[in-house]
Amino acid sequence: MFFTTHSLAGAAIGVATGNPYAGFFAGFLSHHLMDAMPHFDQGSFRVKERRAPYLGDSNFEENTLGAFGARGWAMLFIDWLVSIILFAIIFALSPPDQLSLILIGALGGAFPDIVDTSPLWSPKLRLENPSLQKYHGFHSYFHWTVPAKNWLLGMLTQILLIATSFWYLVLRQIFI
Ligand SMILES: [Zn+2]
Repeated sequence: MFFTTHSLAGAAIGVATGNPYAGFFAGFLSHHLMDAMPHFDQGSFRVKERRAPYLGDSNFEENTLGAFGARGWAMLFIDWLVSIILFAIIFALSPPDQLSLILIGALGGAFPDIVDTSPLWSPKLRLENPSLQKYHGFHSYFHWTVPAKNWLLGMLTQILLIATSFWYLVLRQIFI
């Protein structure tokens, strides 16, 4: 799932909890719940069929083809750019006392991917740390990446999550 989706939902959850520790933890939990929904991302070009191991679909590793290449990086940079724009709007329009909750919740929401799916350091971290290898198994198990041909469904879930989070963080404050 995209960084934008995880970080925005995490930020909204952080604000909803009103507490930095609960915000981080709930953001972290939201990551795995959201990964379990059908979603499109860089990985969609590397899976053959619908892949939700927790629903009994075929093995994560066997059905993951190829490496994280130029297209993956391009999508990641666009994803970051969209996040920067949305967070700039959110920061500009949020009350100052909410900014730390927004950041902590966003960090909690993005944390599993920062640790476990970075092409730069995650494979090395896993090799050095058996508990991270186990965590990778958990992260992959509750995960539903749609193949690229099903991009519409995979984008729809995320657009709904982003729109709801953005409404909660920004529009709710303006209109209610
Ligand atoms: Zn993830």
